[in-house]
Amino acid sequence: MSERMPAVTDSDEVIREALEFIDPPLLAALAALTGDESILRDDLRPDLSNPLDPTGGWTPDKVAQAAGLALELIGRWRDGGCPPPGELSRSTLSRIMAFTVGGSLPEAYTELFVEELGGAGDDLRAPHWRKEDVAPERDFTVAVVGAGMSGLLAAHRLHQAGVPFVILEKNEDVGGTWYENTYPGCRVDVANHFYSYSCAQNPDWPEHFSSQSVLLDYFRQFARDGALNDHIRFSTEVVAAVWSEQDCAWDLELSGPDGPASLRVQAVVMALGQLNRPHLPEIPGLADFRGPSFHSARWDHGVDLNGKRVAVIGTGASAAQFVPVVATQADQLTIYQRTPNWLVPVPHYQEEIPEGKRWLFRHVPGYNQWYRLWLFYRTSDGLLPATEVDPAWGDERSVGLVNDLMRAFMSAYLEEQAGGDQELLAKTLPGYPPFSKRMLMDNGSWFSTLKRPNVELVTDPIEKVTRAGVVTADGQERPADVIVYGTGFLASHFLSPVRIVGRGGTEIHEHWAGEPRAYLGMTVPGYPNLFCMYGPNTNIVVNGSIIYFSECEVRYILGCIELLLSEGHDAMDVREDVHDAFNIEIDEGNLRRVWGAAHVNTWYKNAQGRVTQNWPFSLQEYWDRSRRPDPSEYRFYQASRELEPTKGA
Ligand code: NAP
Repeated sequence: MSERMPAVTDSDEVIREALEFIDPPLLAALAALTGDESILRDDLRPDLSNPLDPTGGWTPDKVAQAAGLALELIGRWRDGGCPPPGELSRSTLSRIMAFTVGGSLPEAYTELFVEELGGAGDDLRAPHWRKEDVAPERDFTVAVVGAGMSGLLAAHRLHQAGVPFVILEKNEDVGGTWYENTYPGCRVDVANHFYSYSCAQNPDWPEHFSSQSVLLDYFRQFARDGALNDHIRFSTEVVAAVWSEQDCAWDLELSGPDGPASLRVQAVVMALGQLNRPHLPEIPGLADFRGPSFHSARWDHGVDLNGKRVAVIGTGASAAQFVPVVATQADQLTIYQRTPNWLVPVPHYQEEIPEGKRWLFRHVPGYNQWYRLWLFYRTSDGLLPATEVDPAWGDERSVGLVNDLMRAFMSAYLEEQAGGDQELLAKTLPGYPPFSKRMLMDNGSWFSTLKRPNVELVTDPIEKVTRAGVVTADGQERPADVIVYGTGFLASHFLSPVRIVGRGGTEIHEHWAGEPRAYLGMTVPGYPNLFCMYGPNTNIVVNGSIIYFSECEVRYILGCIELLLSEGHDAMDVREDVHDAFNIEIDEGNLRRVWGAAHVNTWYKNAQGRVTQNWPFSLQEYWDRSRRPDPSEYRFYQASRELEPTKGA
């Protein structure tokens, strides 16, 4: 996956054709490549006032002008022998970044963006230390639980630091969610140039939003490239983890291919994922249904849907992907919708990246990274203002001015999609503010599915499931041969089903009592040397990539391990007051966001209505807070003895 850029030998004609797909980050990449900033003209600066507009406000005229400038620059660069990019000063980089995000770039972002860009293929997030240098004699092994996206990354970084580790994976292969979800139409709904490791960028993604098999291959390749497979114990589930106060170690109970086993390690990285325990709805009669039924994440490929009457319960991100496929197979498809979704228009969703654009990715050094940066800002922190709650705002359909502008934009899209069918629009237009729950990427396939003659969208509440079908509150029974549950996951059951017993013998789920919390989503007081990935309050509603969070978390965790090893401590446990103050901040932050304030069903909240899932601040802020552990926020232990508090504690 390393970037190998072939020299450009193509004619102007080939380049001109490729430039049909020009966008603002290409100009940024060319300015960075050639040092010619004149191309970054003020009139071509993207307008990100509507971050959901993938063109950045470029009119066809601006596209043509930008393409003309780019053609000239690429031609000159080609004729000059395609010299590699030179070193850019921080101020030059800053100016190019500011252009990319359509205005001035807050200073706090510059360093983060420098890291994201990587420059010349550098892996700026790799650990800058090795165990053999800081604690060569120390017996210290880390167990990584899960070989999905975050577990593989943790393992890769541990490998780079020379820290012994073992990965325990319940499945027979790597990939986590991308291994388990095989439903038809499954693909990532975050653009792949962003949904990928910064240290393993792929300059040649086949699609903007890759399908499940492409992603599974990507993660398999990452494991192979990093020589991680030899460290993985497949088909091995962690049943329990018990902290030994005496020895400062975690004793793991495993259920493996040869039966029960045990393992002692000095630290544990819990990389279990949030979205892997299927949620079946609490609807009476589920067990009575006589036909086949299955959950989207446990797709039964043995059931042929062709010619069948299929009922789909749920219309979330998974259903939005498999329903259009099922509709082409089923004789009759009935979709049971509880809450309509906001749709984000993404015309190229589900499309291959056109050859011209792939040419640009393959030939213009740095374009891949600048494009990633553009997605990063435009589709995550650039959207945050649209999620802010204005306490003085008096309309239930939105929470503030920017949120309302987004509501208007997406309402217009839904109206256009409904195409004058007022009954359909009434069923599909959400009454709650946008960004309260996950929004769905759409290229028109949802409505074209709903309009098919063999498809019915039912919005009456479901009363029960019977032997023969589904009954709604109006008493109508619609027969079904197969039921598919697209009803989501038990997302707020963090770290279940593992029994985790920490200091004082307290089990973590009992400690949480339905309110999972952690410091920075990673550490929990009373559970030393235990680090969560994708833990409480590290999820995002606006489209940031969860891989970004994993990268930040892994750096922090490696920082903790370095601290333990270099200072000769056996264990570290986050201080309760630090953890509590952080969680107050998180809760207050989430209440100021639309997803905390709006009254709508979401898996972001637990049964008590607390937002357990989401990070309420910017991606930049998470990066900043997780760059390195602050020793004053932890208690350190030497075997069972607590050490003097670190200065500043
Ligand atoms: P989900 O978003 O939780 O959607 C579950 C659906 O089932 C919702 O429509 C929900 O209705 C409905 N539902 C739940 N219980 C019900 C009940 N008792 N009666 C009727 N309807 C019920 O689950 P998901 O679609 O599997 O997606 C989960 C998350 O996975 C996503 O938000 C996303 O983060 C991730 N995901 C990502 C991708 C991707 O990147 N490719 C794809 C799929 C999923 P309500 O809306 O009323 O709750």
